[in-house]
Amino acid sequence: MTREQVLLVHPGIYDDSDPRAFPPWGALAVGHALRAAGHDVVVLDLNGADVVAALDAALAAHRPTVVGFTAKQGVGARRFRAAVDHLGAVAPDLPVVAGGPLVSTFPDPRAPLWRGVHTLFRGDGEQAMVSWLADRPRPGTLVHGHEPPDLDAVGVPSWWPDLPEYVHPASAWPNMAVPGIHVAAARGCTRRCTFCYLNAHHPGARFRFVTAPKLHTDLHALNAATGARGFYFVDDCFIDARQHRVREFCARLIAEGSPFRFGCDVQLTDLDRHPDLLALMHRAGFRALYVGVESAAPTTRGRLAKGTVRDVAGALNRAIDLGFALRASIGIGWPGEDGADARRTLALVDEVPRLAFDAYRYYPLPGTPLGEESHWAKARAALSPERLRDAAFQDFSDHNDNYSQIPTAEYDALWAELRGRERERLSAYFAVGS
Ligand code: SF4
Repeated sequence: MTREQVLLVHPGIYDDSDPRAFPPWGALAVGHALRAAGHDVVVLDLNGADVVAALDAALAAHRPTVVGFTAKQGVGARRFRAAVDHLGAVAPDLPVVAGGPLVSTFPDPRAPLWRGVHTLFRGDGEQAMVSWLADRPRPGTLVHGHEPPDLDAVGVPSWWPDLPEYVHPASAWPNMAVPGIHVAAARGCTRRCTFCYLNAHHPGARFRFVTAPKLHTDLHALNAATGARGFYFVDDCFIDARQHRVREFCARLIAEGSPFRFGCDVQLTDLDRHPDLLALMHRAGFRALYVGVESAAPTTRGRLAKGTVRDVAGALNRAIDLGFALRASIGIGWPGEDGADARRTLALVDEVPRLAFDAYRYYPLPGTPLGEESHWAKARAALSPERLRDAAFQDFSDHNDNYSQIPTAEYDALWAELRGRERERLSAYFAVGS
């Protein structure tokens, strides 16, 4: 076997702010598998960095024989293109590969988005990249990843020497009150919402996770390596369908009198239907929850396949009363949504005065049921390759078009109102931590 010098690069989803918000867990998982296969691995997080200067320094210091990128939509896609274009200019013979959600959303390897990239990996990349490095000749174009047989083989790796830089003080973690770090320990989701990128990224894949005993052991190792005592799971889903894993994890923490604090994603249906589980999670140290609310309008929630919740405000207020800090994602501009639907969502914000939230404008992601139904899907087929590449530079943000039934002037006014309340609520949320 040829021992490769692999440089794994996260181009960054921020140009300037929060450069050490999230450890690049996707690259670390791939790096873990490559190291186990005998390769040398350097992981580089370019969030907030000058892409060109940082790449030049890494090329000089590590002399990689292969460069792999994590590719994401929006700012991440722009920074990815800047990085690949630079490599094409200064190291044209260096093989470049890419994986991540952007590959799943735009999987055509001939598209200008992928100019200069030898191979794309779709879905789980670690096993596929180990095989690709061993193959001669190495397959080009699109390679479909295959699931690691056991996510415990990946776990929550703590070998990367930069991890301590991602530990933020207690003031950054509302209601957790300990220094903490974002961690990843699962893939996929128990639900399949019609707008979600998971439809394209893990088509047909179930929710997979690091088991409770392994997670418990690895978080102790991460605590020893970084000093973090708070762990906020960035996984799209934390609670398994049968609740075996979450209950076993909580039982271990309670039995040892764990001083750790936790945050994780939950679904609104979890808050509504499982108050006993929430109480157990609170006893185990969970203090912060992130909820994908998206909309309060029943028709919109039905269209998104978010599940039926009769009293959305009641479910959120009860969780806050149990002692959790709640932050949510809330969007407007859904296909089929009218002004009354969007105002119903704004009314929800008033009904849950302690709810912090991130506001966004809907974006019809390719490869999702809702995105493929939108009028934009038809328009997309007629776009030039360059315009299609530029579409990858959009995401769920300020810059998107109006895909709803709401007249655009009214839509812009509703969006400004939602944005204003988002700022107020996030300020109040982080004031709790300081
Ligand atoms: S609950 Fe969240 S992560 Fe899961 S499918 Fe829906 S939007 Fe995606």
